[in-house]
Amino acid sequence: MECPKERGIELSDHVLPGGLAVKHCPSCAGNWLPVEDYTVWQQQQPAANTPAVPADLSYTPSLLDSRTALCPNCRGFLSRARVGSANPFYVERCPQCGGMWCDRGEWEVLAGLGLHTLIDQLFSSDWQSRMREREFTTRERLALIDKLGSDLAQQIFALAEQLEKHPNGDFGVAYLMRRLDK
Ligand SMILES: [Zn+2]
Ligand SMILES: [Zn+2]
Repeated sequence: MECPKERGIELSDHVLPGGLAVKHCPSCAGNWLPVEDYTVWQQQQPAANTPAVPADLSYTPSLLDSRTALCPNCRGFLSRARVGSANPFYVERCPQCGGMWCDRGEWEVLAGLGLHTLIDQLFSSDWQSRMREREFTTRERLALIDKLGSDLAQQIFALAEQLEKHPNGDFGVAYLMRRLDK
């Protein structure tokens, strides 16, 4: 079985922390997750709620992350699912056989986020639209920091959160709008 990202490199048997049997690339340190092994392993894991969409991962993706990948079984192109709204990386999956690919370090990041047991869900339209929403929020916050400076922007984020939680928060919003509506 050949590495999806490097021609002529053979994958070898390997077990990931957490006990999942995978095919490991000795050259780029990526891991191929055959769907049969993954599904069996997944069913043995404690049931988890879908975790929050992660923002900045503080993780530098592998140089091969953006390289086009071919399924080691089917030889077709793998599809990509974005993880993270700032500095994202991509996990890959074969649309035909369902096998998944994690570049070097991605499994560890996913495990840290509690997403390693849900990799198949990252490809769902629900997750992808939540990821886009999260990306929008992140950009909006950065734009506000840019316009108002960090101190005032942080006060506004905190105020927005308080008003959101308060049962009469809309009175506060109405007051601000009246004050600023000139
Ligand atoms: Zn490789
Ligand atoms: Zn395949």
